[in-house]
Amino acid sequence: MVIKKGLTISQGVTVSQIRSIAILSLGALLLLVPAAQAFQNVCPACRTQADPEDVVCRKCLWLLNHCLICGTTNPVSANFCSNCDNALAPSRVLATIAPEVRAKLKLGASPRALLERDLTRLQHLLDVGRGNPEELLFQMGLTLKKMEFAAREAGVWADFLARFPDSPKAEEARKMRADALFRWGFLFYQQGELDAAAERFQQATETDPRNDTAWTWLGRVRLTLADGPGAKAALQQALAINPANRSARSLMGVKPAAQRPPPPPAPEPEPAPVPSPLYSQP
Ligand SMILES: [Zn+2]
Ligand SMILES: [Zn+2]
Repeated sequence: MVIKKGLTISQGVTVSQIRSIAILSLGALLLLVPAAQAFQNVCPACRTQADPEDVVCRKCLWLLNHCLICGTTNPVSANFCSNCDNALAPSRVLATIAPEVRAKLKLGASPRALLERDLTRLQHLLDVGRGNPEELLFQMGLTLKKMEFAAREAGVWADFLARFPDSPKAEEARKMRADALFRWGFLFYQQGELDAAAERFQQATETDPRNDTAWTWLGRVRLTLADGPGAKAALQQALAINPANRSARSLMGVKPAAQRPPPPPAPEPEPAPVPSPLYSQP
């Protein structure tokens, strides 16, 4: 009975320990990619030193730089897979974790990890000048949109429009930049940073003057900022574009604030993280 109970507990501890150790080691090693690169030429299985052009460990035959995405074996010195152009550092880390643990915890396979992977690959192709930069940059914008990185996404669309103003996708990019600026502004709005929000909403209307949602929100923020004439002008624009915009119509009847609200308080400085010990001291 006691033994049975002990077994159950130790099994539970083992699973959670494997999980936390696997996640911790993956996270820590990915954070330490520059440091990991210094050990790139050391076999993780037997610690034998390898030459930059080696593909397998000469002592234990470990695949030293095996791409886990496409299965290509790369020489030790490569940072990106010669076949699929994905970064190899995550594969080198994941290869040291047992495949069944990797599969069970979906390590490196979460939707977020897959988007991060795409982004790194697109940036790499742009950096080395391979592929069609117009298409790569467009894909990068779409990937950042999926990742909800509004600020970075807005920057990529601006870059796209500056580099490829005559692209057949320029109009689409302009609309997406306006949408990203709007979402970025909305994040500021939620944090009470109204001036920054108004600035992004205004940039959104400049990028896509037909975006009545951005005009409406510009009007809404200007009302709160006690800018009555500015709010009215923005809301009129919204209604000129879309007479059925009910938010703009109802905001037209709202009185502007008597005075600007005070700026939001500065965020509390975050306390230094306290490292939690993996193993408790006796
Ligand atoms: Zn080895
Ligand atoms: Zn590959």
